[in-house]
Amino acid sequence: MDLFDSNKRVNLPRNMIENSMFEEEPDVVDLAKDSTFPALDPDEVTYEPRRSRLLVRGLGENDMEDDEEDCESSARLLGMSFMNRSAARRSNSSPYTRQSPPRSCSRPSARTMVVCVLVLVIVASMTMVLYFLPGCTFTKAGCRKPNKTDPIDTVYPISTNGELFPWAQLRLPQSIKPLSYDLTLNPDLDKMTFTGRTVINMSVLHSTSRIVFHGANLNITKATFKVGLKRIFLCYKPRQQLAVNLSKELEAGQYCVLTLEYAANLSNTYDGFYSSSYTDKDGNKSVLAATQFEPLSARKAFPCFDEPTFKATFLIKINRKKNYITLSNMPKAKSTDLAGGLVQDEFEKTSVNMSTYLVAFIVANFTSLTKNVSGTQVSVYSVPEKKEHSDYALDTASKLLEFYNTFFDINYPLKKLDLVAIPDFLAGAMENWGLITFRETTLLVGKNSSFLEKQVVASVIAHELAHQWFGNLVTMRWWNDLWLNEGFATYMQYMSLQEVFPQLDTLITLHGNLFLSDRFRTLDQDALNSSHAVSTKVSTPEQIEEMFDSVSYEKGASILLMLKASLPGPQQFRKGIIEYLKQFSGLNTDTGDLWNSLTQLSTQHMNVTEMMSSWTSQKGFPLVTVNLTDDQVKLTQEHFLLTSDNATHTSSLWNIPVTYVNDSCSLAPECRQVFTLKTKSDTLKMPGKVKWLKLNYKNMGFYIVDYGKGGWTALSEALSKNVSVLTHEDRASLIHNIFALSRLGRVSFQQVLNLLNYMSAETETSPVTEALLQLNNIYKLLEKRQAFGLAARMKDYILTHFGPLMDKQTWEEEETVSKQELRSALLEMACSLNEKNCTQQAKSLFKQYKESNGTFKIPGDLQQTVFTVAGHSDEDWETLLGMYQHATYDSEKRKMLKGLASTQDPLRLVQILKLSLNGNIQTQELPLIISTVCQGFAGYLFAWDFIQENWDRLIEKFPVGSFAIQTIIKSATSQFSTQTQLNQVQAFFSSLEERGSQMRSVQEALETIRLNQRWMDKNLSTLQKYL
Ligand SMILES: [Zn+2]
Repeated sequence: MDLFDSNKRVNLPRNMIENSMFEEEPDVVDLAKDSTFPALDPDEVTYEPRRSRLLVRGLGENDMEDDEEDCESSARLLGMSFMNRSAARRSNSSPYTRQSPPRSCSRPSARTMVVCVLVLVIVASMTMVLYFLPGCTFTKAGCRKPNKTDPIDTVYPISTNGELFPWAQLRLPQSIKPLSYDLTLNPDLDKMTFTGRTVINMSVLHSTSRIVFHGANLNITKATFKVGLKRIFLCYKPRQQLAVNLSKELEAGQYCVLTLEYAANLSNTYDGFYSSSYTDKDGNKSVLAATQFEPLSARKAFPCFDEPTFKATFLIKINRKKNYITLSNMPKAKSTDLAGGLVQDEFEKTSVNMSTYLVAFIVANFTSLTKNVSGTQVSVYSVPEKKEHSDYALDTASKLLEFYNTFFDINYPLKKLDLVAIPDFLAGAMENWGLITFRETTLLVGKNSSFLEKQVVASVIAHELAHQWFGNLVTMRWWNDLWLNEGFATYMQYMSLQEVFPQLDTLITLHGNLFLSDRFRTLDQDALNSSHAVSTKVSTPEQIEEMFDSVSYEKGASILLMLKASLPGPQQFRKGIIEYLKQFSGLNTDTGDLWNSLTQLSTQHMNVTEMMSSWTSQKGFPLVTVNLTDDQVKLTQEHFLLTSDNATHTSSLWNIPVTYVNDSCSLAPECRQVFTLKTKSDTLKMPGKVKWLKLNYKNMGFYIVDYGKGGWTALSEALSKNVSVLTHEDRASLIHNIFALSRLGRVSFQQVLNLLNYMSAETETSPVTEALLQLNNIYKLLEKRQAFGLAARMKDYILTHFGPLMDKQTWEEEETVSKQELRSALLEMACSLNEKNCTQQAKSLFKQYKESNGTFKIPGDLQQTVFTVAGHSDEDWETLLGMYQHATYDSEKRKMLKGLASTQDPLRLVQILKLSLNGNIQTQELPLIISTVCQGFAGYLFAWDFIQENWDRLIEKFPVGSFAIQTIIKSATSQFSTQTQLNQVQAFFSSLEERGSQMRSVQEALETIRLNQRWMDKNLSTLQKYL
């Protein structure tokens, strides 16, 4: 295998660069050459460890350790570089030696007097003076009198050079606003390094003597500031902040320009300005460099005000070799030949103000397909040999762009829109304005790809295009409201596909199966005590990373769906969001702004703010309990909390638009009645006696319903008599809700099985897939507990109830999307349970595929089942590995990889995990590999060991709190159900301290293990009796 070896990069450690700069180029901040800079006061920079430590102790407990570490390391590194600049100007004094005590507070006059007396007295006096001298004598500030007017709680941290850093918060001060950036980048793809020059034009909003901004992993080699003031350049690494401290205040209304030159390594992770490589089918390796800045990594490519509210314009220039192309947010304005055979591409200045996390640039040798769509040049870029896989994306993006232009009544504002498939990319895609980046799987589809694969591509493009309005044009003020970006884009992705591609309606659209099952999974996640409110306070980088979760995305989208279904008139929701986008175009907003816009347009004076804030400001969701007596229905709400030992949340109340249908009218949308439940309980009067009620019509609301014993029995009986008495969404919703209630302990498992009795008559995708998923979860728990007898009975139960439907599935091409989805779910389950018919069919397809030398095609929706069966087989595993190495089509490769990772052979499991960790299999796939390994009996304990042993390498690749790390933790622990396992997981994560112990996903993992343990203890005897 000749995949990219990350160890081969010319990777000069950052501290080596900084030290070498320090030794060879002492004049690192080249102030002397800039006539606008007056000479610095020689006393401006000093080194005084005693003082540093005293001040450090003044910080909070957690900050202290960080700061101590930073002071010790960075004083030797970047900080020293800046000190050295002062040292050079002081000609021959070393920055490492203590300076003469300043005049203000020391006692040099005593020394003058003593010289006049005796030498012995001199020595004695000096000894006394030095002994009693306070530590502050050696500092620049001398012995300051305590300033009684300083706020007591503002304790400034220490910069890398030992100076006080002039800012003590994570978020930047609001006194300076960046207006424009002029950015020149010079990447070297041979050495995997880059240099840059950033000019920031700023305006002063409030008078201030400090400019604080972000920079991370950048070695600043030169800084100029064109205002005739004395200034010191400071760096505080723990918060990735840089500062210019000025001797005099800048006045409000003043403009100023800061120019910074710097050098850095291209990142070898997936954020910042990072390098990537790929090998084409002839075995030639190519390298490229791309960016991923959201949320906090623009600062790793250029110094900037890296918060979403600091919107500015960007003029970007990139130097390249002639065999590469460059791309950025804007169209290319011109190319200029430079010395040494390089070319400089200059892009047009952005025509919009944008947040730093949306800036992007790429240097690669890609090719493209292009089309003009209503005045916008739409292009799809890929590696040259995959150009033929770009048509579908180009066509889909063009249709969706036209749709959004009309739907939002605001035209896409840039002249071009590039969609780029990056061979090594961690996220699914990233909405950089005008330059959207994707994984190859989420953008490229082959001509023979299945409908399901095309759906994925259409769905991701729809999501990212929606961001060009939601997120790019109107941006959340801070990461606490990330859902305004992600919830909306997720909602729009389903909504737009339904409108633009109605033929796909059965799968991933607003009313399709995928969004429905996403809502179920989000309810499961949000039922944990460790969940969080949609809009929630975030203050650390890890917390910001953790916002990229199902609550921001799917719950955000779910509550928008619920709101839309509650608003009178189909156009009202659309009018409200158009109003919101127009009112805040180019600006930043918070959740309240959105609800206000929708309230203002409400024709029936519906208070959207009142209703929706109960869904965004509280974590979790309500459980609505129904008590039906003749024509009276008592509804009660409470917080659905799986671990309900915490009494503090029992007071949560939601404003719930409860919808319901009953036995006399239950299918058509006209049957739907609405009742708003705002209080703890309320009573609803029916026009006459009803046999049963089904609440939450088509599961469009974000809540779970308990019908009580009588209610569940009535619904189970009704379904047993006639499966079509409810819509398929309602049937899936009943299945989901009853399993959730069983987990909560409100419904016995016997009742669950009662409801499932109707399943033999079920043929619709969403109820079947939901029931299979729930039963498989229990099967996996039993298997992992080594309750093999019960696991075998569960297997029989599944095969008895679903066997006839499994047997009906064909193995040829299937046209309907919904049938493809149903078939793949049923057959994957059947083969994973070793059902003989299934495994034989899969093996025979694999054999034909293997022997046909690429001419035989396995239907796309069956590929996963076939490759997984091959991965289980001794003889086929090696063949599959060979196929994986030579396959170019990413979507197929991923399925092969999942097949390889599902092996039960421990040596092969080790091999596959190591290959990915070392980068021989793209490390972007490691979360997928780990989650697949964990599914198998042989792999799940081994995977947990692997994670513990390699934790530091994992968080080197994927940031603490990131979605990748969340996936790894969740998949490794979600099948644990014993006290010993709980203790192990707890002990491991608490030992990590700042390397991950505080993550929300750790709390979720522990809570899930406790719940598994509780459910098992409670239900093992029921399973023995009824399975
Ligand atoms: Zn998104």
